[in-house]
Amino acid sequence: MPTKQRQVNLDVKEMPTQWYNILPDLPEPLPPPQDPQEGESRIKKLPEILIGECLKQEFSNERWIDIPEELQEIYHQAGRPRPLFRALNLEKKLDTPARLYYKAEFYSPTGSHKVNTALAQAYYAKKEGYKRLTTETGAGQWGTALSYGAALAGLECTVFWVRAVYSWKQDRRSLMELYGAEVFASPSDETEFGKTLYEKNPDHPGSLGIAISEGMEDAKKDSEAIYCLGSVLNHVLMHQSIIGLETKKEFEKFDDYPDLVISCLGGGSNFGGFALPFVHDVLKEGKKIKFIAAQSEVAPNLQGTYRYDFADYAEQTPLLKMYTLGHQVDMGPIRGDGLRYHGCSPIISLLRDKGYIDTVAYPQDEKYVFEKAKLFIQTEGYLPAPESAYSIACAIDEAIKCKESGEKKVIGFNVSGHGFLDIVGYRAVLGLK
Ligand SMILES: *Cc1c(COP(=O)(O)O)cnc(C)c1O
Repeated sequence: MPTKQRQVNLDVKEMPTQWYNILPDLPEPLPPPQDPQEGESRIKKLPEILIGECLKQEFSNERWIDIPEELQEIYHQAGRPRPLFRALNLEKKLDTPARLYYKAEFYSPTGSHKVNTALAQAYYAKKEGYKRLTTETGAGQWGTALSYGAALAGLECTVFWVRAVYSWKQDRRSLMELYGAEVFASPSDETEFGKTLYEKNPDHPGSLGIAISEGMEDAKKDSEAIYCLGSVLNHVLMHQSIIGLETKKEFEKFDDYPDLVISCLGGGSNFGGFALPFVHDVLKEGKKIKFIAAQSEVAPNLQGTYRYDFADYAEQTPLLKMYTLGHQVDMGPIRGDGLRYHGCSPIISLLRDKGYIDTVAYPQDEKYVFEKAKLFIQTEGYLPAPESAYSIACAIDEAIKCKESGEKKVIGFNVSGHGFLDIVGYRAVLGLK
């Protein structure tokens, strides 16, 4: 038995059997989705767009929602529960009095935390009789997770992938195909909306908002297909709460508790999944925790404005009250492409508006965050996804502040994925041979 405990994992029997839904615990009711003043009702169409059970969960006021037993088994198959590590080597290297802990979502079979909701959505879609799933993907992590979920559930899967990323992530594309998915660069000529852009410019770089519009349109014209979304929505954050629920139990086993909870944020699913079970403790049990969302300067949506906006480029979704940069905004390219989304989940947005969540945005060239990821690899040994490098950079920044102030803060951060399919990005930014 090693003398110093460097990781804690739960027994399968201790894996959470319910997800945490924060809606009833929020400081005020979440502003509901709205329809735009003109055009047809998007809200009335939601049952055509979303899986029935997910739509129910989206507006549920039950604090705890059972994870179906069969799905618990699938989570187990996917490697859950996942460990929480104490970053002793990194602490030593930084010479900080802070205690650092990281959650190992990088043990995911497809490379990211997104499997937690992909497996749930595929499970419900199968139960409801659908034959095919459609979706969009930006960085490719969500497309891969859903391809995997679909394969395990025996469903087909169609992925519309933002062309600018599709073009350089060939290995990830092949991985989706190995899972049996059909993958199109977006904008494509597969949908009416895609065609309007594709025909004008076949090299159109695309955007997540455009790809969402294509995925939705593709599902709409096939009664056996249903669209799936990998972030932003309430039920997605709830599925992801398994990350934070496990982490809380693991902190107990370490006999510790975080002062700071950190993760990267694009649409809010990994940040929400990791942090919301701790936000519960702040709202309901008087705990004091500082939450920090790490973002990119190309998409600092939490520094945008808090207002109603569309979730997609083509304005097919209802309006959501969220921090947004505008649904047709142009964002520069980054390797941590999963952080490139114009808006932030309504739940996190409300909490930000009420002052519970801080945010930091890192420079577009990504040298700073990737250097921090390199330090993490060289001390802890695990290669993070480019997005997760933002969590790591933020945690290291806070640990260095502790060194300066002498504070022994406990810092928990989530490493949302691994970077084995993103080495091209590291090579380009860090100038590796
Ligand atoms: C998609 C993704 C993110 C960002 O998305 P959120 O919705 O904010 O969670 C972060 N990390 C990884 C590895 C991802 O795949």
